[in-house]
Amino acid sequence: MTSATPTDPDCLFCKIVAGEIPADVVHEGAATVAFRDINPQAPLHVLVVPRAHHENAAASAAADAEGFAALFAAAAEVARAEGHDDYRLVFNTGAGVGQTVFHTHLHVIAGRPMTWPPG
Ligand code: 5GP
Ligand code: ZN
Repeated sequence: MTSATPTDPDCLFCKIVAGEIPADVVHEGAATVAFRDINPQAPLHVLVVPRAHHENAAASAAADAEGFAALFAAAAEVARAEGHDDYRLVFNTGAGVGQTVFHTHLHVIAGRPMTWPPG
């Protein structure tokens, strides 16, 4: 990452990316870090985050297109490495649909039956 990579000193996921807060990291790329969710909703529940701080997926797509695209490749690698061909990818965008951490994160969820539509 370059010195221009945006970070927020008050952001939980920026602190995990920086190694200042421990996490169970399962994958690291030039632009991404993936770690297990602290409150897993399925046997596999990993969060893939861009190293660059933006508040949601749309903001990352606009400002960090390369890092945003890398999220999907990392998610596929994590799912495959953990033995899952079938998995669900979710971006919660906005508090109204359950976003609680305002640093873009792609949920990778697998390992149990899932229903559609989601709740
Ligand atoms: P959101 O609700 O914003 O889509 O997802 C945030 C996710 O971050 C939640 O699933 C929550 O369990 C997870 N989370 C919150 N704090 C921590 C933490 O300190 N470490 C890890 N590994 N996950 C966290
Ligand atoms: Zn952040």
